[in-house]
Amino acid sequence: MKAITFHGVGDVRAQDVAEPKIVDPTDVVLKITTSAVCGSDLHQYHGRGGVLVQTGAIMGHEFMGTVEDLGPAVRQVRRGDRVIVPFSVSCGQCEWCQRRLPTQCTTTGRAVFGGRFGHVWGGGQAQWIRVPFADHLCERVPAEMTDHDAIFLGDILSTGYFCAENGGIRPGDTVAVFGAGPVGLLATQSAQLFGPARLFAVDRVGYRLKLAEEFGAEPVSLDRGDPAEQLRALTGGRGPDVVLECVGHETPFTQAIQAVRAGGTVASVGVYVEPSLGFPAREAFFKDLTLKMGICNARNYIVPLLPLVRVGKLKPSRIITHTMALGDAPKGYAIFDRKEDRAIKVMLRP
Ligand SMILES: [Zn+2]
Ligand SMILES: [Zn+2]
Repeated sequence: MKAITFHGVGDVRAQDVAEPKIVDPTDVVLKITTSAVCGSDLHQYHGRGGVLVQTGAIMGHEFMGTVEDLGPAVRQVRRGDRVIVPFSVSCGQCEWCQRRLPTQCTTTGRAVFGGRFGHVWGGGQAQWIRVPFADHLCERVPAEMTDHDAIFLGDILSTGYFCAENGGIRPGDTVAVFGAGPVGLLATQSAQLFGPARLFAVDRVGYRLKLAEEFGAEPVSLDRGDPAEQLRALTGGRGPDVVLECVGHETPFTQAIQAVRAGGTVASVGVYVEPSLGFPAREAFFKDLTLKMGICNARNYIVPLLPLVRVGKLKPSRIITHTMALGDAPKGYAIFDRKEDRAIKVMLRP
């Protein structure tokens, strides 16, 4: 089958590789119908985060498809079912899965599809994929929902919503979202469900801010100077009640803490590749702020968010800018990485 594999920093290739097979009785093999390139794939692409993906590993953790083959112990899905799967590989049984923290699953060692252990759990930028613990990981998608509406439930929509939820937004609040990439844009859409009076989107890239405006946000351009100062000026000197940090670097994290009002909340879902950050702890302390951060347990959000997408209260597919053949993924990585061709979200058709 065709798959996108990792060969070194900045080097992903479309290659012919062996098709996955059922290994354990709880496995399914999906025929992938749609996959996507995620911002965290770019971390792997650049070799950020300290550990390189293995050469030849199949990339990608955003995918969906139909069940082609299944092990004898699979009960919840059948051949031909159309399913969405979360980005992290979890068993559903261990202490952490039972505590609804599947990203901490000890059975799989906190694995991610297409992650650095891509030789074990191949990624979704391929024609087929083996999904273990299928009864736990696969969620059926209603026939009337398109792939482009459903696929982001497995990662970036759930992550954006989780960030908004962690912000504890109350009706009438002022909210600022740092980052207008795919996750930030979906955090912006999600934040609207909690009834903020004002919503700001902070980014440097003009075409991304334009889309955030379409989702009801007031744009704050980093080109105009320090975002904390701009946000204070826009809110009568007080700062937003809630800041949603969707970038994952030290500077925006610091600016989020500087921007939020006293007693406010900073919720962070940016994937930090640095092992530690310069953290303005003194300012955070004297502000009495609440900080929530973490990797989204997307499995928990697929079922509750699905109806919100189905009725159009969340419109995740609006962020899609490119749909290309799987074999063109190397170009997709490059334009997404360089923010060329007004790229926001690149979809792949296996
Ligand atoms: Zn992702
Ligand atoms: Zn587990």
